[in-house]
Amino acid sequence: MDGVQKRNPGQPEFHQAVHEVAGTILPYIAEKPIYHKMQILERMTEPDRVVSFRVCWEDDEGNIRVNRGWRVQFNNAIGPYKGGCRFHPSVNESVLKFLGFEQQFKNSLTGLPMGGGKGGANFNPKGKSENEVMRFCQSFMTELCRHIGPNTDVPAGDIGVGAREIGYMFGQYKRLTNKFEGILTGKGLEFGGSLIRTEATGYGAVYFLQSMLEQTGGALDGARVCISGSGNVATYAAEKCLHLGAKVLTLSDSGGYIHDPDGIDGEKLEWVKALKNVRRGRISEYVAEYPGAEFHEGRPWSVPCDYAIPCATQNEIDVDDAKLLVKNGCKGISEGANMPTVVEGINVFQDAGILYGPSKAANAGGVAVSGMEMSQNSARISWSEDELQKLLLETMQGIHDNCYSYGEGKGKDGGCDYLLGANVAGFVKVADAMLAYGVQ
Ligand code: NDP
Repeated sequence: MDGVQKRNPGQPEFHQAVHEVAGTILPYIAEKPIYHKMQILERMTEPDRVVSFRVCWEDDEGNIRVNRGWRVQFNNAIGPYKGGCRFHPSVNESVLKFLGFEQQFKNSLTGLPMGGGKGGANFNPKGKSENEVMRFCQSFMTELCRHIGPNTDVPAGDIGVGAREIGYMFGQYKRLTNKFEGILTGKGLEFGGSLIRTEATGYGAVYFLQSMLEQTGGALDGARVCISGSGNVATYAAEKCLHLGAKVLTLSDSGGYIHDPDGIDGEKLEWVKALKNVRRGRISEYVAEYPGAEFHEGRPWSVPCDYAIPCATQNEIDVDDAKLLVKNGCKGISEGANMPTVVEGINVFQDAGILYGPSKAANAGGVAVSGMEMSQNSARISWSEDELQKLLLETMQGIHDNCYSYGEGKGKDGGCDYLLGANVAGFVKVADAMLAYGVQ
């Protein structure tokens, strides 16, 4: 950790992600001297490369605007770099390095041949016109296209990058290179996208929770669930909870959260999706449409629930939130967002002996279906929805079982330590591939 902090000053999110992994991996490495001798973990904390570039675009008033874009190519030991792009004003190198670092373990857990990467820009799509978003995306891809390729690096969406942005970026790549190839996932169905990619991360996080519950005899049917966020991951996590008979009490955005004691049913959820994806509105507008609900500033973790699924952003559950969740009877967490719980918060969950599904395992459904989109693009075929739904469920169960095999009996009172399980299971495959390549 000293070396990581010295080499990467001022990058707290990256330090946090490495700390969380190293804390669980080091005892495992201690028993396997070859990993230590070959400095595998140390090498994994250094990205293959970080590309940063200027993104210039013109706003609707004719002003020239300048943002910074990045692509962090972390590790391609087991396949082409793969990981989303985030457009948000908080994006910086630290955030993208934490996400890229996590991504190498997550992608390994899926069992598919994908390395880890991440990218994005400090661009805020909120309040921008359609044309401004289009011009930004085109300018971003004009530089990014030099660094990606179907066998090199295949980005996707993340916060602030959805179907609209992927469409603009794919179009620009095609125009610049005169090639129609699978260089992005999350594409529209008309141009090489895969069915269920949109749903995959949210559905997957709920499948992971369901698999953990199967081990402990719990069930989602009739359970109360708190969800944060109201974007892609949150709305589809809510949808799958409803399919499985749970009552969804909350959703949020950066302005605050809504608490609907009657539950956010299917019709209300469709209204939220239209609010967010079509009208690009705020979650606070929900209470005017559904007066039985309340809007509050802050995060939803004070609402008593049986299970919590954070689906907004990093560090959105601090140590006090974690204590509150436990005190109010929460029995399990499945992380849809990346690194949503601070390290001390994870300790609270683990000390309380409640189920804790870490993001690199619980939210891997999205990248798993992205991997399936890559396969379909390479073979120039489209798989059916039934086939993909089955593959997603099986993949999430497989990830659960893989984590379980390493974490079984290592948690409080002999329960499973899913954090340990996910970190070790994700690490081993990448580490063994790196060993095979020698020193590089
Ligand atoms: P979206 O942009 O679709 O939605 C993000 C949601 O989180 C919005 O409701 C947004 O509110 C809220 N949010 C973002 N930043 C903050 C903040 N600082 N404080 C409070 N709320 C915030 O993104 P996704 O749903 O795609 O991503 C959500 C999380 O899931 C991220 O951590 C992402 O890395 C992770 N993830 C996403 C995958 C995917 O397939 N999309 C795959 C794996 C992980 P507002 O509109 O106000 O900004």
